[in-house]
Amino acid sequence: MSIIVQKYGGSSVADEQRIHRVAERILQTRREGHDVVVVVSAMGSTTQELLDRANRMADDPPRRELDVLLSTGECQSMALLSMALDARDAPSVSLNGPQSGVRTSDNHFNAAVTAVEPARIRDELAAGRIVVVAGYQGLGPGLDVTTLGIGGSDISAVALAAALDAERCEICSDVAGVYSADPGVVEDARRLDEISYAEMLTLARHGASVLNPRAVGYARDHGVEIHALSTFEPEAGGTIVRDVPLPCDPRVVGVASHPTLVPIVVTAKSADSRDKLGDAVRDHLGTDDVFLDRRQGRNGPRELFIAASDLPDPHAFGERIRERFDARVRVGEARASVSAVGLGLGAAAEQWHSASRIHARRAGIEVYRDYSADHALTCLIEPEKVEPAVELLHDRLALAEAS
Ligand code: ASP
Ligand code: MG
Repeated sequence: MSIIVQKYGGSSVADEQRIHRVAERILQTRREGHDVVVVVSAMGSTTQELLDRANRMADDPPRRELDVLLSTGECQSMALLSMALDARDAPSVSLNGPQSGVRTSDNHFNAAVTAVEPARIRDELAAGRIVVVAGYQGLGPGLDVTTLGIGGSDISAVALAAALDAERCEICSDVAGVYSADPGVVEDARRLDEISYAEMLTLARHGASVLNPRAVGYARDHGVEIHALSTFEPEAGGTIVRDVPLPCDPRVVGVASHPTLVPIVVTAKSADSRDKLGDAVRDHLGTDDVFLDRRQGRNGPRELFIAASDLPDPHAFGERIRERFDARVRVGEARASVSAVGLGLGAAAEQWHSASRIHARRAGIEVYRDYSADHALTCLIEPEKVEPAVELLHDRLALAEAS
């Protein structure tokens, strides 16, 4: 039988009633003749609440213990969902990350999946059970539980889909797929029916939160087809992320934003020591987490921007950086980013940046800095202006749904 991996995000399992509806949806997939492996997130805002609690308990909680605590959120969801399936006489079993064979690096709070050994899952499927797995967690090399970074349940789902050679990996949430901008901010954002791994990865890296960027990278590397769908409105359609032929001409696929970026500013006398110090800070942060890494001229500062959501303790963080490195490293004022994403866009950087500055100025949005990468053009702005900036850019790029 073909296997389908379905991942349900936090809002899909936020309360008992929704968990019952998710159970119904899973049984529907079973009736269509598939084996189902389900990956669940923590209920609603549980992860944030646990994180807040940890930060009240200690200034800088040990990351190992943080992971022990955070991993409990997903364990609650998996057990409750398995109970809801049992109430429908559907045989199922819940497995936490270590039980399900997800192996990771030892980088607590942001561990990377290094291998998946799904023998237990295969046995359970062979015994006719639906397998419900706690997302966002795995087993580190020292046999300690680890977590995969904020939004990490998507990674669990994709990694399991790859290891089980699943037909597809469905990521089910409260939005029906990937849009040209966050539909909660831009009302007439257009849904993308299909998108390439490269485009999706760039959108996700620039802050589109519907899919975790590392999950998209894993899917690309292992050829996993992702279907981003709405949990409770399956008829609304969705977006398929896979290898699609890429257009020859550059095209804009969407606008993405990071609401809060924390800049770590590294200054040092010579360019050489600044770069060495910058690399040390970067290693300390975990290179995956650095959104932008910019050097300002030969002797100017180097700035590393990190999304606040990648920091377990944004407040204690500045202190720690100051203690650990010296006065040459400081935390700057928070910024937000707004990016236009599309393959090959970087080639048009110059015209684009001057046009965007003019539009932004007219709308009263100050652009502190602009940057280009191969497939994205980014402006750094003040965090308060991020929503109007996304709307403005989306409108200027004419990405709205034709109505
Ligand atoms: N519960 C974790 C989080 O809130 C993982 C996830 O939902 O993907 O980030
Ligand atoms: Mg998510």
